[in-house]
Amino acid sequence: MSSLAGKAAVVTGSTSGIGLAYARALARAGANIVLNGMGEPADIEKERSGIEREFGVKAVHSPADMTRPDEIEQMVRLGEKTLGSVDILINNAGIQFVSPVEEFPLDKWDAIIAINLSSAFHAIRAAVPGMKARGWGRIINTASAHSLVASPFKSAYVAAKHGIAGLTKTVALELATHKITCNAISPGYVWTPLVERQVPDTMKARNMTKEEVIKDVMLLAQPTKEFVTVEQVAALAVYLCGDEASQITGANLSIDGGWTAA
Ligand code: NAD
Repeated sequence: MSSLAGKAAVVTGSTSGIGLAYARALARAGANIVLNGMGEPADIEKERSGIEREFGVKAVHSPADMTRPDEIEQMVRLGEKTLGSVDILINNAGIQFVSPVEEFPLDKWDAIIAINLSSAFHAIRAAVPGMKARGWGRIINTASAHSLVASPFKSAYVAAKHGIAGLTKTVALELATHKITCNAISPGYVWTPLVERQVPDTMKARNMTKEEVIKDVMLLAQPTKEFVTVEQVAALAVYLCGDEASQITGANLSIDGGWTAA
């Protein structure tokens, strides 16, 4: 793995799941970290101080709410002020809601578009001037297999993830001559709190048991019949941050057990 010593990374939604794995993997590769996300303050502090202790890097937490453009900008400024720069931006915060389209709650639609799509735009907007000034940057957006294919009852999520795939390509083209790459990572099902929370709604929407949702919806989608792990997703992000990946930009890389090949 490439060394990211001396780089600073902002990882949104990194108090849990895939985001926490990104933060730990980037720290292991030497990067200082801005953690972001919600949770019990004591749990977040435990992760933050644990990263500092285990990997010998600096880690700070930004409580920025990804529905708030002003707080997203403050998160990037916190990184620049306390870590000296923001060289790596991983847009990862996300929520999910499962419902038939005609019953889809309006507040859930707005929240999913704000957190899963607009927050990435705001964070990119705030971080790019510094990256351009330093002549180096890595932007990674966590998309999803749902940026390529749809599933019933996930209208807002699928729309947001298709949106982030388009944002990724556009930003990559704009920044291509600045040594700043922008890529999307599209995981299939990864067993995280987000996936666990969607099981009851999927049971209701599809009239299935929990075991049927896991076997006949989630794992049925993935030809390997296995969940992807958070560590596997994080390893791909570390690779994309290295100099070996400088010619990969505008890509949407699937890590989905073959789901979108099917
Ligand atoms: P998770 O629920 O474990 O983590 C989500 C993170 O986002 C948490 O840190 C949470 O605090 C944060 N978050 C949520 N709302 C926020 C807000 N308003 N402001 C700031 N932070 C907020 O979920 P996960 O599965 O690790 O998901 C991470 C990303 O990966 C999401 O974008 C998700 O869509 C994507 N993804 C997940 C899977 C999967 O199967 N788990 C598959 C494909 C893509």
